[in-house]
Formats: sequence, C-alpha cells, structure tokens
Amino acid sequence: MDIVHLLPDHVANQIAAGEVIQRPASCLKELVENSLDAEATSIQVIVRDAGRTLLQVIDNGKGMSQTDARMAFERHATSKINQVDDLFSLRTMGFRGEALASICAVAQVEMTTRQEEDEVGFRIEVDGSQVVEQEPCACAKGTSVKVKNLFYNVPVRRKFLKTDQTELRNLLTEFYHIVLVYPKVQFLFVHNDEILLDLPATTEKLRIQTIFGKGSHNYGAQLLDIHTDTELVSIRGFVSKPENTAKSSQQYFFVNGRYMRHPYFHKAIMTAYSGMLPGEYNPTYFVYFDIDPQAIDVNIHPTKTEIKFSDEQAVFQILLAAVREALGKFSLAPTIDFDRSGEIEMPTRTSQASTVGNSFPKAPSIQVDPSYNPFRTRQTAPRNWQTIYPDRPTQPEVEQLQIGTIPTISAPAYQYDSRYILQPTEQGLMIINQHRAHACILYHNLLEQLQQHRGTTQQLLFQEVIELTEAEKTILEAIWEDLHAIGFVIDQFSKTAYSISGIPAQLAENDAVLVLRDIIHNVEQTGINAAQQWQEQIAVAMANDMAIPYGKTLTQDEMQDLVQHLLSLPTYMRTPDGKKVLTILSDGELRDRI
Ligand code: ADP
Ligand code: MG
Repeated sequence: MDIVHLLPDHVANQIAAGEVIQRPASCLKELVENSLDAEATSIQVIVRDAGRTLLQVIDNGKGMSQTDARMAFERHATSKINQVDDLFSLRTMGFRGEALASICAVAQVEMTTRQEEDEVGFRIEVDGSQVVEQEPCACAKGTSVKVKNLFYNVPVRRKFLKTDQTELRNLLTEFYHIVLVYPKVQFLFVHNDEILLDLPATTEKLRIQTIFGKGSHNYGAQLLDIHTDTELVSIRGFVSKPENTAKSSQQYFFVNGRYMRHPYFHKAIMTAYSGMLPGEYNPTYFVYFDIDPQAIDVNIHPTKTEIKFSDEQAVFQILLAAVREALGKFSLAPTIDFDRSGEIEMPTRTSQASTVGNSFPKAPSIQVDPSYNPFRTRQTAPRNWQTIYPDRPTQPEVEQLQIGTIPTISAPAYQYDSRYILQPTEQGLMIINQHRAHACILYHNLLEQLQQHRGTTQQLLFQEVIELTEAEKTILEAIWEDLHAIGFVIDQFSKTAYSISGIPAQLAENDAVLVLRDIIHNVEQTGINAAQQWQEQIAVAMANDMAIPYGKTLTQDEMQDLVQHLLSLPTYMRTPDGKKVLTILSDGELRDRI
C-alpha cells in the first residue's frame, strides 16, 4: 500500500500559516502591507478583543478584479514576483503570496474589493480555506479584509495567545513599525470602538511626534536630524539630544521602508553617544537607511526582522559619523541644560524658567567641527564672556549654564556625607560628586598621556599574571600599543596568560590585574571595531579605578584643589562615561524650597 501522499491544500496552508501568522499582530502586518503595496493613501485598522474576534483592514488602494480576488487566497498567488531573480530586487513588502492563503486557513475571512474602473465590486467569504460565498457587491474603491475568529480551528495557537493587553501591545508595536515609514499615508487604529491612533498624512518628524510625543509638546524639538548620502547607503532620521535620553527609549531602524533590528548598528549609535549619556540612559533614535536591495540579504522569511548588509562595517562607520556630526553640531549650540530630573528634586518653575531661557544671550558663534567630541576637544568658549554681555543679570536664576562659563567660587567648600563637595558659587550652591569629579580630571590627564605616549612605568617587584579568554585576548592584542603607551609592560606568558611586569606610575595603589580587566571590558563594550575609541575607553577605565572613592574624607586643601582642577577642564558637567558630575542649586530654587 502506498503511504506517501500530498497534503490537502488546507492542511498545507495551516502549516504554512504557523510560520507566517503567529498572532493577531502578524496578521495585521500582512494585511496593512498588502494595502500599502496596493498604493493606498488611507488605511483603517479595526480591531476587537485584541484581534481575537475581529481584525479588519480597510484601504483605498487599487483593489482587485473578480478573478484576482478569488486567486488571491491561493497559496503562492502573488502579483508581485514572477521569477526567483525578482526576489533580489524587491521593493514591495509582500512577495511570497502566502499571507492571504495562510490567514484564511486559520480564520473566517471576508473580503470586499473594487478597482476604480469597475462599476461593481466583489465580495468573497472564505472559511478555513474553503470559499463559502462570492458575489458582486456595491463597495467603495479599494479593499476591505475582515479576519474573524482567528485560530478558531487551531486550538493550540489560540492557547498560545497572551492576554488581550499583551496582544494589543503587539498589534500596536507592529503598527508603529509600519506607520513610521509611511508618514504620507493616513492611518486610523480603532480598538473595541475606541480610536487609539488617528494619524493624518504628514512628515516623518511630525508622525513621530504624534505617536510618541504625548504629554510633551516639544518632543520633536528633542530630536536632532541626521542625514548622510554616500554611494553605498543614504541614511537619514532623528536621534535624541544627549540630555533628552531616558531609561526607556524608542529605538527604530528601517531599511528600504521596512523595520529591522540591527544590534551592530545599534552599537554604532551607542558609540557616537559614548561619553555623553548618564549611566543607564539610552538615546532615542529613528534611523532610515536607503540602500540598493542588492546590498542587503533579502528578507526571505516574512517574520524575520534582522537583516544582513553585505558591507556592515562600512555602513557602521557611515552611521557613526552621521550621528557624531549631529551630536557635535548640537554640542556647540548655545546652552547646556541641567537635567532637572536628576538626583535632586526641584519644584518646577516653568514660566520663569522659559523667560530666563529666552532672554539668555546667544553664545559667540563658533566654527562647527563635525568630528566634535566633548571629551577630545580642547576648545573652550571665552572665559570672560560676562563682559561681552554686560547686561546679563548679576544673580540670574540659572538653570542653564553657558558653555565655557566657569562658576565663580565665592566661599570655602564643605564635604557632605563623604561623597559630595558643597561649593558656594556666585551662580548658586554647586554640589559636586567627589568620585566623578576626580575621575573626570584623571581621564583628561590619562588621555593626554596616551595620545602623546608620555606614560611612565613603575616596575613591579613581583610580576602579576592575568588569564584571558580568547575574546579578551583579541581585545588585549588590539589595544596592545596603547597599553604600552600609557605605561603597562605586558608580555605573553603562556597560551592563555599574560604577565604584567610594569604598570602606569599613577596606578601604584591599584590592583593591576583588576584595572587591566576593567580596561578590556570597557573596550569590549564599545566594540572592537571602534578603534578611535580605544584610547578613550582605556582612560575611562583607569580613571574610574583610580578616582577617590566615596567615603573618603577630604581636607579643605584637597577640596579646593579638586574643584579648581575640575572647573579648568574643557568639559566638566559629565564624566566621560556620561554620569553627572555636578549640579547647581540656584538661590532662587533654594528660596522656593525654604
Ligand atoms: P503577497 O502580498 O505576498 O503577494 P498575499 O497573500 O498577501 O501575497 O496577497 C496575494 C495577492 O492579493 C497580492 O499579490 C495582491 O495582488 C492581492 N492583494 C492582497 N491584498 C490586497 C489589497 N489590499 N489590495 C489590492 N490587492 C491585494
Ligand atoms: Mg502580502
């Protein structure tokens, strides 16, 4: 008896559906992408019970003929490719002709559609891959697809669905991925008769603001434009200003109009921000890549969001440069904002704050250096700028400090909690984190020594041995010369171990092995490809290890020395790894409190 047979279509479709349609969100993605492929300019998504009972997409696109409407539900029915070669020059969203076939295998589907040139439209109902009704009908130009009772015939899938709340969140996430690349298309999203998103046709930036800017009317103003055009790729989009970063943030990459995840390019952005972000804060970004489809690996699997570029390193560098340029330009803008949501809660004084902000004098114009990095540049604004702007109030309630303004010390400092230095200044009470301040100072010294190969070595009486993994070994070898430049004397000891017989003189009191590990770890985090950053990362790691710890009592002389040193640095508001070094409590703010 023969036992091999072809699966009936509806079974094959159900299996395929398992791949393509995993949850209501994947269904939404397929339907909306079809509408976009049909050149719709207005798309409505109507959902009930997070898509369990109803998911309907209505568009005003080009519609289908009767025959096409019937064909559309067949597996591998597609109007978008004819041959395998087409796969590699794909610009449309769908291409496998599987979505509708898959959806109708696991739900009850009702579609109405009409092409502009046809007088009557067509309605077709398909239930578990079987056509149950089809007839001409009167309907608007375009297509409406209703997906009812998703997974009604696949109990296992139904069981895998999460709570309505989670599925709705998934639906919206998928929706964002699409609407963020089609700002010129109007969208509406309705859930259980409630309009959740009403998005008129607009620009990318305004669409972003409409979706994510809730509650903050100047969300758009917190974003910097990035833009670069090269032969290989063109990149545009928006990144947040360093002080508008948050613990949770929006991070989106799109390539040729599709959302993608790309951990490596994410690193490029993080590298551009390095030295500017407070600890666990993250930048928001919306980055749109446009690249020849031949230069990326086609997204063969419809649910796959990771895309391989053929020249990732080059794109990494181009992206890094573009973000750096945007941040660099911004860093030379007139003011630095004090982060008001920092360690110290202050009452808001928005009205006054904004008038102070508006009447604030403009900074002297400075030539923009696209490779500007606050921790590398020695440029400072004129120190005597108060005299350039004679009408500046003498006791302003500043919350913004002009770049290059040095707070004027007005009385001796106090130490508080063996952690902070309280330094009265003419601008208010300056509160300095002692460890971070010292790390800042050390960083600048170390970096200079590194760059000028001026490190001095202290020979160790007994050499230390450090064991490294393969990955750590590659990093050590990459930064080998820099380590020697700063004063380390390191030699290979065995296959997996290295001996340290000399250390930078300043490190005398630190555990050499520990410091070396911290350095390797820091470089690892930045990425082994970011060669320009190695010296900075070495200096950061050493500075953090060497800086005076919390709990250390400081003498008046030490405090004075520290404060003066700190304020003479080109940048001192944040540590090179982005932590806040100081804040100023203005007299006005103090009086507000007590
Ligand atoms: P694919 O999108 O991969 O081609 P689908 O199964 O999603 O496959 O759709 C099959 C075909 O049905 C499409 O190629 C298209 O011709 C047609 N179609 C589907 N949805 C629409 C729509 N909203 N408007 C016009 N045509 C559509
Ligand atoms: Mg499709």
